[in-house]
Amino acid sequence: MARSPNGSAAVPAEVDVAVVGAGFSGLYLLYKLRKLGFSAVAFDEAGDVGGTWYWNRYPGARCDIPTTDYAYSFDPQLEQEWTWTEKYATQPEILAYLGHVADRYDLRRDVWFDTRITAAEWDESRRQWLLRTNHDDEVRCRYYVMASGCLSLPKTPDIEGAGRYCGEVYLTGMWPHGPVDFSGKKVAVVGTGSSGIQCIPEIARQAAQLTVFQRTANFSVPAHNGAPPAERLARLADDRDSYREDARWSRGGMPAELTEVSGVTASDQVRRERFENAWRTGELFAILGVFSDQGINPIANEFVAEMIREKIRANVNDPDTADALCPMDHPFGTKRPCLDSGYFETFNLPHVRLVDLRQKPIVTITEAGIELADESFEFDAIVFATGFDAMTGPLVSVNITGANGVTLKDKWAHGPTTYLGLMTSGFPNLFMITGPQSPSVLSNMLVSIEQHVDWVADCLGRLRAESLDRIEPTPLAEAGWVQHNQDCAEITLYPRANSWYMGANVPGKPRVFLPYIGGVDAYRQACQDVAEQDLMGFRLDGPAGARCNDGVIRRIQPDVAIVLDLIASLGLPLMETMTAADARAYSDATAATMPPGPVVGEITDAVLPGPAGDLGYRLYRPPSAGPHPIIAYFHGGGWVLGSQFADEPFCRDLCVRTGAVVVSVDYRHAPEDRYPSAVDDAFAAVQWIAANAAALGGIPGQLAVAGWSAGGNLAAVTCQLARDAGGPEITSQLLLTPVTDGDRARPSYIENGEGFVLTADLMGWFWDHYADEADRAHPTAAPLRGTLAGLPPAVVVTAEFDPLRDEGDAYADALAAAGVPVRHIRARGHIHTSLTMVDAVISGAPVRAEMAEALSAIRLAPVRA
Ligand SMILES: Cc1cc2nc3c(=O)[nH]c(=O)nc-3n(C[C@H](O)[C@H](O)[C@H](O)COP(=O)(O)OP(=O)(O)OC[C@H]3O[C@@H](n4cnc5c(N)ncnc54)[C@H](O)[C@@H]3O)c2cc1C
Repeated sequence: MARSPNGSAAVPAEVDVAVVGAGFSGLYLLYKLRKLGFSAVAFDEAGDVGGTWYWNRYPGARCDIPTTDYAYSFDPQLEQEWTWTEKYATQPEILAYLGHVADRYDLRRDVWFDTRITAAEWDESRRQWLLRTNHDDEVRCRYYVMASGCLSLPKTPDIEGAGRYCGEVYLTGMWPHGPVDFSGKKVAVVGTGSSGIQCIPEIARQAAQLTVFQRTANFSVPAHNGAPPAERLARLADDRDSYREDARWSRGGMPAELTEVSGVTASDQVRRERFENAWRTGELFAILGVFSDQGINPIANEFVAEMIREKIRANVNDPDTADALCPMDHPFGTKRPCLDSGYFETFNLPHVRLVDLRQKPIVTITEAGIELADESFEFDAIVFATGFDAMTGPLVSVNITGANGVTLKDKWAHGPTTYLGLMTSGFPNLFMITGPQSPSVLSNMLVSIEQHVDWVADCLGRLRAESLDRIEPTPLAEAGWVQHNQDCAEITLYPRANSWYMGANVPGKPRVFLPYIGGVDAYRQACQDVAEQDLMGFRLDGPAGARCNDGVIRRIQPDVAIVLDLIASLGLPLMETMTAADARAYSDATAATMPPGPVVGEITDAVLPGPAGDLGYRLYRPPSAGPHPIIAYFHGGGWVLGSQFADEPFCRDLCVRTGAVVVSVDYRHAPEDRYPSAVDDAFAAVQWIAANAAALGGIPGQLAVAGWSAGGNLAAVTCQLARDAGGPEITSQLLLTPVTDGDRARPSYIENGEGFVLTADLMGWFWDHYADEADRAHPTAAPLRGTLAGLPPAVVVTAEFDPLRDEGDAYADALAAAGVPVRHIRARGHIHTSLTMVDAVISGAPVRAEMAEALSAIRLAPVRA
């Protein structure tokens, strides 16, 4: 029977908003909606408020974000009147807090407890959702909000015989309300995720024997629990508002300084100091942020991982048990790390034993206990700490049918697709709080919950004010957000782990990275930008009419966006306002800050004869035994900047990926030597390299030319000159974001003319230095205007946010039209410079891999003995 503390037994027939869940999210929603004058009710299958903290009553259950931050911030008075007793509060204290909040704002009167929403159907004719409860009640609502939690559907153990056991069985996520006493008992705990790690030391204190069955060893850090952190309390007392604002615009939802110290380049001493400092704080975000690159670079990550393993080995007496407890199968942080109080030390107790299921899998659960291949155990109680069907589970467990008759479960059969993690197309007026593809479980959830509730409440208020009553994301906006989520995840190490972030803990669940990993700050900005651009990507409808500002809110690759933000924050002068000498110095200084690129077999410097004197070159040889194909490479820099050394990281990368000798040749620069000096030098260099291929360690007859930007221009021109001169033979050409024409009126010059490093003005500055107006249409300056038939097969790479995009695209199209085999790679979300930023812009790596593979496929495959 549904029950509401307001004494009413009947569920209201119709409300403005129906909310599922009465945890942190549902309670704040009720508060906000009521304030805005919406009629709203909430439903929870729990017997009272609390959500997570109602259900997870296992011994040792605590939060792992400090209580200074794991609390509501919407009402300063609420903050004033509640005092936490510990840094990491116990479940009873957090539940008491939520009870206090419910009382303080009189929220319970609108909650139907012991009531599960089983189904929901969109009624287009009435523009309403029809919800059904497990008591066969129905409620109609204009808006339907799933505040149903990310971790609210416990995963029942997928172990053979799980139902046969006759002793006491406990699930950490559905712990009984009455006392549970393990004194004198033989107890098993199955699972060593966050809940297992929290309850194992507590159960060990009571039980006569404790056997822990571990499938995956997890990283855990001591909580150093105690009084709430004094430094954070002081900052809050000093200026509460700015502390909370910092949290809202932080990466993880807690004020923290982001480090720029790279784990790869730091000294051993710095690494150790930074790690030990983080270890002492007992805060997850500290240990997740020891180095700037630990989430993206496996080497940096391994430094942190190994230092944690050292701590485990130091704390666990038995070396075999210590080894089994050391996580080896995933980078640190890619599975949710845990905070513990004496977890590893528990295994030193004589009555506690670890069974490593990787070595000895469970064969079956029996009536009396657990059976392995070579050993049987009998237990009085089994505790399953087997986690949750995270994020999507609670959503698809309700039979939600959208506007097209499709269920949410079917729509998400291959993984969730959402817009901002807030809504999903085909399901109008259905909102999710901390839904998949929002920061949610990667953040301090309180900050994320408040942000989502505020956004939804603002949105509903706005719709009402504008006489609209239907909102739904467009397929375009949704696809763009899904892509952005993938882009963010793919530059990190996170998808490498079989984690619940990836859905890997639930058999049959699609493997996609569920939360948004771009950061709370970036996410908040995206939501704000959407709202400010007339709810971009949402189709709005109602008595006021229909409208839609369709589009994709984040199109730039996430790491490219970080680079652009960084550049903007430095407030540097524009290069086109400098002298050529100053621009060169600036460009060299910038290049010196870049990672060096991968290790190659050998690097040698020498000179070759040019038409007006020697030309320097740098040769990169692969580590494999030669001879190798050769790539003659021309650097970028608008014919004004750079040298044979300028694109070193890119040349190394090209060498390693293609297995070719890369000869990066310098050429004369403008304005000292204007057009066609660079062309003359480039062609002469290619002739010389072809003639001296064997001496350079190359395979005669296997010569490609390549170049980036202005270097791409020279590579393209060289191919035309070689064809016209009857040699040398060039097997292929690689043109990376090349200059192919002097015409700067193409749309990409307008769309991408500012804000993407290479500006339209800078390109004008380069052309002015390089060539007279009258020369710019000549094919040796503008290869797009030349005859293209008979040129070598080409790989042309263009970048979406590059002023040169359209002329690069035009060159690829024109080559193809002239019968030249072309592989045209369009680098989505990239700018003119990002593909050469090896190891700095990680999202460029797959493009370079595709480029090198395409080049090798043409005729560059190394000759194998
Ligand atoms: C043991 C544990 C510790 C945690 N510690 C932290 C921490 O330290 N920091 C942090 O940021 N996060 C932590 N989390 C995550 C935690 O879930 C969130 O912080 C927060 O409590 C979520 O609140 P919520 O209201 O969104 O969801 P929940 O608290 O999960 O509440 C959702 C409610 O919806 C109800 N519900 C779901 N589906 C239905 C349905 N169909 N019909 C009716 N009712 C339904 C559920 O019964 C539940 O009561 C922890 C999670 C667990 C499990």
